[in-house]
Amino acid sequence: MKQIINNIPDSKGYNAFKRDKSFEKLMNFYCGKNLFQRIKPQFTKLGELVGDKIENLTLSADKSPPELIKRSRTGMNYDKIEKHPDFQALEKIAFSEFGLAAISHRNKIFGFEEKLPPIIKYGLTFLFVQSEFGLCCPISMTDSLTRTLSKFGNKDLVNLFFDKLTSLDIDQLYQGAMFMTEQEAGSDVGNTKTYAENINGNWYLTGEKWFCSNPDADLAMVLARPKGNEKGTKGLSLFLLPKLIDNKTPNDYEILRLKDKLGGRSFASGEIRLNKAFAYLVGDQNQGFKQMTDMINMSRLSNGVRSSGMMQRSLQECLYISKNRKAFNTKLINLPLMQKQILKIFLLAESSRSIVFHSAKVLEKADDGVDIYKILFRILTPLIKFRSCRDARKVTGDLMEVRGGCGYIEEWSDARMVRDAHLGSIWEGTSNIVALDVIRSLKKNDNLKVFKKYLFDVVGNFDIAKDRKYFNDNIEKVFNFALTIISNNIEHSARQISSALYYLSASIFSYNEGHLEPELSYRKKLAKLILKHKICTNDPLQKEDLENSIKSFPNLFSH
Ligand SMILES: Cc1cc2nc3c(=O)[nH]c(=O)nc-3n(C[C@H](O)[C@H](O)[C@H](O)COP(=O)(O)OP(=O)(O)OC[C@H]3O[C@@H](n4cnc5c(N)ncnc54)[C@H](O)[C@@H]3O)c2cc1C
Repeated sequence: MKQIINNIPDSKGYNAFKRDKSFEKLMNFYCGKNLFQRIKPQFTKLGELVGDKIENLTLSADKSPPELIKRSRTGMNYDKIEKHPDFQALEKIAFSEFGLAAISHRNKIFGFEEKLPPIIKYGLTFLFVQSEFGLCCPISMTDSLTRTLSKFGNKDLVNLFFDKLTSLDIDQLYQGAMFMTEQEAGSDVGNTKTYAENINGNWYLTGEKWFCSNPDADLAMVLARPKGNEKGTKGLSLFLLPKLIDNKTPNDYEILRLKDKLGGRSFASGEIRLNKAFAYLVGDQNQGFKQMTDMINMSRLSNGVRSSGMMQRSLQECLYISKNRKAFNTKLINLPLMQKQILKIFLLAESSRSIVFHSAKVLEKADDGVDIYKILFRILTPLIKFRSCRDARKVTGDLMEVRGGCGYIEEWSDARMVRDAHLGSIWEGTSNIVALDVIRSLKKNDNLKVFKKYLFDVVGNFDIAKDRKYFNDNIEKVFNFALTIISNNIEHSARQISSALYYLSASIFSYNEGHLEPELSYRKKLAKLILKHKICTNDPLQKEDLENSIKSFPNLFSH
């Protein structure tokens, strides 16, 4: 551990992979030891960059947001977004060195013959975001656009752009975006006014898009209504909008201005006017919104992963600060009230990590075509987007306070993380909208029963009968409540039940990690703590047994 000379602890230069004592064990568990040990050098390398070079680049890119240049000095009209050199350096690390947008689509990443599973992409993103949140948007947009295009686009269209979208050469790379939101169509996408016309076999789009992140992306997925189509989401089609036509002529759309944002300041978000812009139809003309939900869901999960990474960074920083900063002649970590705050952060950060990593495995099986995993993924995605993103707001705020006055000062990363964390629960569906989506996902067919049975099956393998009973009783309790809400259509309880299902699942997945991997056995205690605090307590005056809780996690508090 670094020497602290002036009682202001600064962890800079840490390795984000190595200092998090559970990361390698969890990756071994979820990836399989053979695969993870082969790829571990990449995690070690990224961990080192996150704690130093990426952190430096991020601090400066956050303070130098991109600018929109409307005209050249010779009076030529163009919409050019000038990115700060430090942001460009971040792009190179993420897109080229670590292939974060390409990793799920092609082989030969890090010299691997095979395509790597989603857990590797999410593990690396979980690390990267611990220093840079903003760039994760363009990365995720590029990754999810490639997936949606490959899934629904015709072969010629996919072939036209696939190599560019998955290129590791930053000069060749095509980045992706999603232009969906309009002034009257945010949550209410069915109200989309942008329309599409088919002229001589080609499609042209007209309308205004109100929020467009990565607005100068080479390709964007756009929702528009072909003229004459019915109202609502059913009348929408999905289009691929190229920045350049035939790779040379600028397409007919304009970036009107960039947004001045609270967080995510390193990358651009803007407003776009489409003036009969040329676009390719993607997939079935009558399934536009349904196809777009694939991109939205991937992006929602990515948001959950990012929130999880930010919470882990917060936890690690809290531990570092409290083990090194002294007050009242002792280290902060020795103070009971600080210990309790750390436990609260630990509980939220680790709940999120368990449910996120478990879901990455579920996604792998869903993509292999296993029906039950498709259903589980459909439910777990909005659960994570809802709760992890909300918890990240609290956890990053709590870290800011643990650093004391310095936490509020912009030369540290805490204030930026608080600003960034708030974005997670607004875009890609606000908290209300994703909580309602949880209900929608449970209502469909037998999804509620499938989810319940899955959790029962996981618990069924636990070896301690008393613990099995404890979890099973809680599954019954939470699912009975869910059934009441769904059967009676009680919309106002959507957030309440989403939280309960999230923490219930997280605690079961966490126990499962401890049950199957002896090196993670502490996660059984973590699992019970999650249930106790998030499902079973109702009494705000209940006395807590802090001493016992601290004893349950000796590694966390040792120093
Ligand atoms: C920085 C940033 C970047 C963005 N980037 C993009 C992008 O790249 N592409 C893109 O398409 N969009 C983007 N968005 C838009 C974002 O997805 C929308 O702002 C968001 O979905 C909310 O839509 P809205 O702003 O129209 O709010 P509204 O839909 O007007 O919502 C206002 C409030 O009403 C609530 N509400 C709405 N309906 C219900 C309901 N049925 N029940 C209860 N409450 C409800 C919402 O929860 C919210 O609190 C971005 C937004 C931001 C802030």
